[in-house]
Amino acid sequence: MPRSRHDRFDLVILGGGAAAFAAAIRADELGFTSAMVNADLPIGGTCVNVGCVPSKFLLEAGNEYFYRQSPQFACNLPGTPKCDFPEAIANKDRMVQKLRRTNYLEVLEGRKIEYIEASGVLLPGRKVRARGRLLEGHHVLIATGSSPKIPPIEGLREAGYLTNRTLMRRKEMPKELLVLGGARSVSSSVRCMPTSGARFG
Ligand SMILES: Cc1cc2nc3c(=O)[nH]c(=O)nc-3n(C[C@H](O)[C@H](O)[C@H](O)COP(=O)(O)OP(=O)(O)OC[C@H]3O[C@@H](n4cnc5c(N)ncnc54)[C@H](O)[C@@H]3O)c2cc1C
Repeated sequence: MPRSRHDRFDLVILGGGAAAFAAAIRADELGFTSAMVNADLPIGGTCVNVGCVPSKFLLEAGNEYFYRQSPQFACNLPGTPKCDFPEAIANKDRMVQKLRRTNYLEVLEGRKIEYIEASGVLLPGRKVRARGRLLEGHHVLIATGSSPKIPPIEGLREAGYLTNRTLMRRKEMPKELLVLGGARSVSSSVRCMPTSGARFG
C-alpha cells in the first residue's frame, strides 16, 4: 500500500462552502495556512450551487413570467408571455458556473489556502485523510453543512421525489409539485415553480 503524504496546516477544514470560505479567508488574513477539503457539491457548497443563488435566480425568472401575465400590474409589456424553462435552467447554470469561478476559485488565488477536492475523513489527533494524504491541523474545522433528509414515508422511494439539489438540476418544469416541509429553504426552492406555471400544494 502506498504511504500517505503527511501535511501540516494551521487549519484543516472539512467542507468547501460559505462557512469554510469565511474561516479560511480569516485564517489567511491572520497569517495562517489552511487546507480546505471539499467533495460531493462543487466548490462553494450549498449556497452558490443548490441554495441561495440558483433559487433566487429562478424566482426572478418566474416573477418575470408571472408579472407579464397579470393585467393588474401597470407596467405590463406587450406580447404573449412564454416560459422557456430549459433556457431559464441553462441561464442559471451559466451564472452559477461564473460565480463559482469569481466568488470562490479566484478568491483562493494568492492566499495560503490549499483547496483539495476530495471526501475527507476525520481521524483522531486533529487529522483528516483526503485523497491518500494525511492532513494535520493545529485546528480542525468541521464545516460540512447539511444535506436533505428523506423522511421515512411509505411509498416515497417508489413514487420518486425531488430535493433542493435535484430540483435545481431539472431541465423540464414539473407539472405539479407536492411540497413536504415548510422551512424557509424549502419555500425558496419551490416558489420559483408556481410563478412559472407549475401547480403545487
Ligand atoms: C434552497 C435554499 C435557499 C437558500 N437561500 C438562502 C438565502 O437566500 N440566504 C441565506 O443566507 N441562506 C440561504 N440558504 C442557506 C445557505 O445556503 C446555507 O446556510 C449555507 O450554504 C451553509 O453553508 P455551509 O458552508 O455551512 O455548508 P455548505 O455550503 O453545505 O458546505 C458544506 C460542503 O461540505 C461538503 N462536504 C460534506 N461532507 C464532506 C466531507 N466528508 N468531505 C469533504 N466535503 C464534505 C458538502 O458537499 C458541501 O460542499 C439557502 C439554502 C437552500 C437549500
